[in-house]
Amino acid sequence: MTVDKKKICGNCGLPSSIGKGNMWHANGVITASYPPHIRGTLYDIDELNALFPAISERIGFDITRLVVEGKRKDGKRYADSLARNIKEKGREPAPVEIYEMIARFCSYWGLGLVSVAEYVEGERLTLGVRNVYSEPMYMGDWSGVFEAMEKRRGDPRWRDEDVHDMIDVVAVEGEPELEVRIEQEIELGIPVDDEGDLQYRHCPECEVPLEISKQFSWDADDANIVERDSGKRFILHNTNGFAAVVRVLREELGDEIDGIITGISRDYAREYYQGIGGETSMDAELMKFPLRSWGRPTRLLRSNNGYGIRIANPYSSPVLAGRLWGLVETFEGRTFSLQVRGEEEGVLDLALNLQD
Ligand SMILES: [Zn+2]
Repeated sequence: MTVDKKKICGNCGLPSSIGKGNMWHANGVITASYPPHIRGTLYDIDELNALFPAISERIGFDITRLVVEGKRKDGKRYADSLARNIKEKGREPAPVEIYEMIARFCSYWGLGLVSVAEYVEGERLTLGVRNVYSEPMYMGDWSGVFEAMEKRRGDPRWRDEDVHDMIDVVAVEGEPELEVRIEQEIELGIPVDDEGDLQYRHCPECEVPLEISKQFSWDADDANIVERDSGKRFILHNTNGFAAVVRVLREELGDEIDGIITGISRDYAREYYQGIGGETSMDAELMKFPLRSWGRPTRLLRSNNGYGIRIANPYSSPVLAGRLWGLVETFEGRTFSLQVRGEEEGVLDLALNLQD
């Protein structure tokens, strides 16, 4: 696969299009620069990829299909809005133009290297792919893009089950019930409070906060965003699909799903923060949250028996609760119990109490 070399910011080294396409806001949220300003999150891929298999294992059934559906609707919404924006500028984009555009974006967002190999209008889209962040989720993303452009449901499959380098998205009849529900959830999105007082030092050339280029090596030519401290791969991807999957899981399985997710994220966070240890601190790690669109810490109270922590605009309350729990435990070197003290819209409020 040949991919054109991507333009790089001469000052900070990030791909130039990241600053053009995205805005880092003072409220702890990243959004696209273009309407409808869809929220994005910098996801830790190991955390994301560990989460869904671990949930499946705990609850005893495979939720992969649900995750793919969430991603499908996310991809559909994104492609729809991209096509709409081009139309509003007075031009009707051909589907293949949108596919090629999104393929290019995928390398910037770290999702994978992808190119359009074949296209039969209304019937089939074949993609050559490499270095994909998650096979089921990426298939979901692309089937949604196909659905938006062809107005038909796309069924994604590997061309060769043994060699995962080519995806065929084939038009099929829809399965409305689950799809309609997830689509409604995606449209609902997650509540965001515009207030915020974060101030970043921005790159004078591309406008991305300079802290991002310090924390990540961002190589669009390989679709690799790597966190320097941990060596972990990250992606910049839509927030709503993930939130919608968690909400549908909650409807199906009850509120206990939050506790399950939080427990899995806590285990992951302990391992993660033990791994980076050394040079960093709890405060320094908390300050990274808003830069990743995880939300904005607005309160950190320390007392003899624990912590009170509040996050405005969490991208996912159960995941962040677990992150914070494992973070505090690792830096304190002690065990805490967690109490989630009510989740108002757009706020996560936690009490962590020392266990003796
Ligand atoms: Zn720059």
